Amino acid sequence: MNELLDAVTQAADPDDFAALPVPESCRALTLRKDETELFAGLDSRDKDPRKSLHLAEVPVPDQPGPGEVLVAVMASSVNYNTVWSAIFEPVPTFAFLERYGRTSPLARRHDLPYHVIGSDLAGYVLRTGPGVRAWRPGDRVVAHCLSVELESADGHDDTMLDPEQRIWGYETNFGGLAEVALVKANQLMPKAGHLTWEEAAASGLVNSTAYRQLVSRNGADLKQGDNVLVWGAAGGLGSYATQLVLAGGAQPICVVSDQAKADLCRAMGADAVIDRGAEGYRFWNADGTQNPREWRRFGSRIRELTGGEDPDIVLEHPGRDTFGASVYVTRRGGTVVTCASTTGYTHEYDNRYLWMSLKRIIGSHFANYREAWEANRLICKARIHPTLSGVYPLADGGQAAYDVHRNRHQGKVGVLCLAPQEGLGVSEPELRAQHISAITRFRNAGESTA
Ligand code: NAP
Repeated sequence: MNELLDAVTQAADPDDFAALPVPESCRALTLRKDETELFAGLDSRDKDPRKSLHLAEVPVPDQPGPGEVLVAVMASSVNYNTVWSAIFEPVPTFAFLERYGRTSPLARRHDLPYHVIGSDLAGYVLRTGPGVRAWRPGDRVVAHCLSVELESADGHDDTMLDPEQRIWGYETNFGGLAEVALVKANQLMPKAGHLTWEEAAASGLVNSTAYRQLVSRNGADLKQGDNVLVWGAAGGLGSYATQLVLAGGAQPICVVSDQAKADLCRAMGADAVIDRGAEGYRFWNADGTQNPREWRRFGSRIRELTGGEDPDIVLEHPGRDTFGASVYVTRRGGTVVTCASTTGYTHEYDNRYLWMSLKRIIGSHFANYREAWEANRLICKARIHPTLSGVYPLADGGQAAYDVHRNRHQGKVGVLCLAPQEGLGVSEPELRAQHISAITRFRNAGESTA
């Protein structure tokens, strides 16, 4: 693979890139179909991604099909879906690959006894398939993770509604935690010139998701002055949500679980921060019922921070642990927008607080290409910054996923694929210099708290 690295770093123009041989195999982080019972009987918490994720040499798909692109991946990142895949919850991802494989001869390539996972990348276009006109070999790109077929009418208002909508590197094979990845051309977006490879690879999935949840008309349609409660505000989704709220002239109320994360939220510009660890909210009683008194205590704390106002929007993703509180504290007429259920997907809330106060719950999932593009445009313009706190080599991807599973991380965790070291890939040093403290904010915090 060093040959590929040498070649991509020395190729001068698109013709050089187009002439590069596609390697027969590459290194990739894989799950094995014969290991899906590895953690049978264990609690989720005890399922260890370091045991299920393997660095392997795997064949590279020989030629990209119509509308497809092979990318030489310089860097990728860990997402929470990396954790879900690696602990085989809620179901092993091989079920998705089998189902996808049945849809067409091109898709059949994805149904393999191993799964190359990963839903973010930054790198160089290596090869384009028939019909790809928007991208050329050598283009520096990032990829968002929406894979769609668009053969049905359903997806043509909003591509997230395509019945054949999948998350690349989770519900498809050939993901980003590898030296070469296979994507559809309509997943590609320009890489921000002022960022390194690993910084550029950090944002795609979470930034696009938070953008649709908060800013898009498909989500909560954020407006100036809104109060927005952001759970996990120094985590992956939350760290981008906090920035998007601030950039939109609204006020985040950031919830985090320790002082270091509270400091990061303040450093991003948030004034209202709740340390749920220090304040000890217990929304659930030991007998499995909820505790409305704790909802009220949480709501009073929010009002203290906002001057008596309730959240117009709640960015939900913890799920079962917090959902009852989220519905309760939302303003009359306000919106809970949910994209996940990290702590459990059977939610319970008191519906009187929803219907009598005319609140809405919106389900949101990733983002369509347009939303992902808008979110990436904000990154390219340095209006939103990556929240990379740590970087691992590909060989230590299991450890990186373990850290995220154990909530030991802040913001995003990066992974170097072909990039031999951190700090490479910057083509706009002046823009970088203007924003360097914001770009490295999470990195520096990670170093000082390590
Ligand atoms: P992350 O980086 O681990 O951040 C999640 C944050 O949630 C943590 O930092 C933690 O913050 C907070 N949290 C954890 N347990 C909590 C609890 N019991 N109560 C309150 N807060 C809690 O993960 P992420 O990347 O932000 O992803 C979060 C979830 O969204 C995952 O389930 C992921 O799969 C999902 N997701 C879905 C989509 C989609 O398209 N549908 C896209 C992205 C992510 P503190 O400990 O500081 O409070």
